[in-house]
Amino acid sequence: MSNQNPVFIPGPTNIPDRLLNAMHQQTMDHRSPSFVEMLKPVLSDCKRVFGTETGEVIIFPSTGTGGWEATICNTLSPGDKVLIARYGMFSHRWIDLCQRHGLDVQIIECPWGSGAPSDKFEEVLSQDTNHEIKAVLATHNETATGVKSDIKGVRGAMDTAKHPAMLFVDCVSSLGSMPFDMDAWGVDAAISGSQKGFMLTTGLAILAVSQKALAAMETAKLPRTFFDFKDMMAANNSGGFPYTPPLQLIYGLRESLAMLLEEGLDNVFDRHHRMAEGVRQAVAAWGLKLCANSPDLYSDSVSAIYVPEGFDSNQLTAHAFDTYGVSFGIGLGEMNTKAFRIGHLGSLTDVMVLSGLATIEMAMADLNYPITLGTGVAAAQEYFRKTAPKKSV
Ligand SMILES: *Cc1c(COP(=O)(O)O)cnc(C)c1O
Repeated sequence: MSNQNPVFIPGPTNIPDRLLNAMHQQTMDHRSPSFVEMLKPVLSDCKRVFGTETGEVIIFPSTGTGGWEATICNTLSPGDKVLIARYGMFSHRWIDLCQRHGLDVQIIECPWGSGAPSDKFEEVLSQDTNHEIKAVLATHNETATGVKSDIKGVRGAMDTAKHPAMLFVDCVSSLGSMPFDMDAWGVDAAISGSQKGFMLTTGLAILAVSQKALAAMETAKLPRTFFDFKDMMAANNSGGFPYTPPLQLIYGLRESLAMLLEEGLDNVFDRHHRMAEGVRQAVAAWGLKLCANSPDLYSDSVSAIYVPEGFDSNQLTAHAFDTYGVSFGIGLGEMNTKAFRIGHLGSLTDVMVLSGLATIEMAMADLNYPITLGTGVAAAQEYFRKTAPKKSV
């Protein structure tokens, strides 16, 4: 029965029955008119989630990591310089990917728990008077530390420095859970995947690219075949894919978009904020500390929480799973053994969050953590009681 418990990992997330049912489809010829008709509105509805009217949405059978690779390969050439800050496991992996593709990666090292350093970006970009830096890369929501960065601020820094570089943003664990405004923030490529805010199985890289990034394709020399934007856009225009599309996932994405838009994106974001704040109230009541350095950086989709000195967070997450059948996120990279993570995104409600808090509280009590059973749950309950959306009676 423990497979009935929700997961509290920050992806893959819980899949609503409605989406499981939508993906329960027999094989269909992807050249048939019904697939052709289905694809176009899926792409245009995705634009609303990205907050773009001028960009193009491109979907690959892949994952977020493939989205990083697709972005780099279609817009840059070997030896091109890119600027990126390392402040968690996901920015770290994106750096590694860029280096393996032969890019010249200028890295700003930041403490884990901080966000994208707009001031340092501005400094570096202002000094780059020959405009050698072709792109600035930023992780919107660093899933390892539960830090949300100010992407508008990064764009502001680029504009202040009057620098023409493109801005590429990883929004894998924020899109569809937190506000994202691609056009307003001047983002040139936004990269997401199917298994987080979209509540689907893993298997799609979902990207939105600006006209400027599309223009960069004309001179970009990194090799690409499977991930070629041009091939994909040309095929999409005639209603198809350049290869066999993951049909069931695209049906799932159509339904996911319907769910998000029916709830209303603003309501989706409010729900995430409320769940996150409930978790943060519990963390404070336990007397524990978040990895995120300050409230402006708090993520609404994942919280990374330090365990007290002398405790091992891997033991805690293992115990919660072995004893109660509930998964929480382990500490990644520098945070391993020091912090655990509660994913609070996707198909979740206040009530489900309470069950997660109650479970991790039991696990902490079992392992003699200096917390009082019930305090975290009570703090979240008080917060949820105060903020529950009013239903007209
Ligand atoms: C999950 C995640 C990724 C990686 O996505 P995959 O789908 O596992 O390749 C990248 N960046 C962030 C911020 C993530 O949370």
